Amino acid sequence: MVIQDVHNQKNSSDCFGAAIAAMRILKRTTLYCLLAWWVFCLYGPQATQADEPPREETVYYPVHGDTLAAVLREMTEKGPKPYWGFTHWNVRWSGACALSASVTLTLPEWQPSAWVSAHETTRIENKIAQLTAHEQGHVRLFQRGYSALQDLFHASHLSCPDKKKRGEEILAKMRLRDKTYDDQTNHGKNPANCCHEDP
Ligand SMILES: [Zn+2]
Repeated sequence: MVIQDVHNQKNSSDCFGAAIAAMRILKRTTLYCLLAWWVFCLYGPQATQADEPPREETVYYPVHGDTLAAVLREMTEKGPKPYWGFTHWNVRWSGACALSASVTLTLPEWQPSAWVSAHETTRIENKIAQLTAHEQGHVRLFQRGYSALQDLFHASHLSCPDKKKRGEEILAKMRLRDKTYDDQTNHGKNPANCCHEDP
């Protein structure tokens, strides 16, 4: 996984633009790599209320093929380039320190034909399961970090500016954990160690 820290304190569309710009520099040679992507934005007073649980969503893109090689080609073509799987988390806090977040997984959904062999079926399903397990590791890391953020932002003895300052530190740790996870699992490439987020 390639880590790109997008930190924009203006609005979400600026964050998105920065994310797109950063994606352009990612190397296509790391196709197996799986990406956790963070976007952090400070919203204005219109932001969501405190205690809002993170919104979680999985978006599937369909892939076809009768062999693992064919399916991988489709994943390369149709996946969240330059990766096959993608975990995007987004943490926001308002000017009044109301915290909210969302996390979105993008994963392939294999749609097999009727005549695919059992052997290839197993290979394809195992590959997608491995990919999924790796991304779920990113989700667990996110949940752990977000829990720490909730504790922080609910602390009654801290001022809102202090919460934001410490919140930034937690976000930095969350980004580092994602990077470490990918470094240690080789971006989920190693079947024996694809998805242990805390090795
Ligand atoms: Zn990863």
